[in-house]
Amino acid sequence: MYQTLPLLQYSDFPRIRRASLEILQVNLGYYCNQRCKHCHVNAGPNRKETMSAQTAAQLMRFMQSTQVSTIDLTGGAPELHAQFKPLVEAGRHAGCRVIDRCNLSVLFEPGQEGLADYLAQWRVDIVASLPCYLEENVNAQRGRGIFEKSINALRVLNDLGYGIDGSGLSLELVYNPQGPELPPPQADLEADYRAYLGEHYGIQFTRLLALANLPIKRFGSTLISRGQFVDYMQLLKSSHSAANLDSVMCRNTLSVDYEGYVYDCDFNQMLNVPAGGGKPIHINDLDQQVDAGAPIAIADHCYGCTAGQGSSCGGALG
Ligand code: SF4
Ligand code: SF4
Repeated sequence: MYQTLPLLQYSDFPRIRRASLEILQVNLGYYCNQRCKHCHVNAGPNRKETMSAQTAAQLMRFMQSTQVSTIDLTGGAPELHAQFKPLVEAGRHAGCRVIDRCNLSVLFEPGQEGLADYLAQWRVDIVASLPCYLEENVNAQRGRGIFEKSINALRVLNDLGYGIDGSGLSLELVYNPQGPELPPPQADLEADYRAYLGEHYGIQFTRLLALANLPIKRFGSTLISRGQFVDYMQLLKSSHSAANLDSVMCRNTLSVDYEGYVYDCDFNQMLNVPAGGGKPIHINDLDQQVDAGAPIAIADHCYGCTAGQGSSCGGALG
């Protein structure tokens, strides 16, 4: 696989600084039951990296000693890692909103029969990838049979109240383009998703998040091998909107890896660029380096968060 960081690190992206910390995004490890083409984590069924109970305990102490309001659990497939439930329950006991970045098909993995009920019982919000509402596109990006499993999973979640107005159980879907393009306008796409999924499958959801693919890891390497990397970077740069700089997720989020080291965002974690761009910092040793006003480690991939409507990890910004 081609490395993208050497192509990204000498950057003219504007310098940005942290605001106050609100969200702790925790990567539980790289094991996943899927192996998607655009995965920026290079996750898959052969990955062994996973969070230990000791690191989870350190995170819980951090959670309880700070004002973070949201715990955002990701992976790999976070639900397939041993520390998923301990972190869900610690986060909820600490009064935090807990988000599960769920790939949907995980609900049908062996041993996960009670997972959907568990998530509803603990009032965990779900952010779920569904990169298109058309079967052939989803299967091309995420693997054969994944669309059907995703639809069945959404039905199970709807039946529990997820995505249904007034239930308090949020079900957000995530769109990302199939190739080196920017996502279409989020509101228009959401209307298309709502109409198609409602009419064909009777599925409801809370909101659609349209995210650009960042030119790193598996997606970045594919761009390089197809000779598309330079053009994609030009597209991101020419679509940069300074208005999005205030809302990129690194301003209020800290990303933690499965060993407890901290980064300004999940993308920087995957590029192994520590928070602030200095030496690696462990969650146990956090000091002013991630306080409000601290510098954020930027590189050219950051243009993926500010291009067009902006996308970061929260969907269209502004
Ligand atoms: S489901 Fe998510 S973590 Fe798993 S391979 Fe696909 S993109 Fe990566
Ligand atoms: S990739 Fe996006 S979220 Fe990460 S540091 Fe750059 S602007 Fe912030």
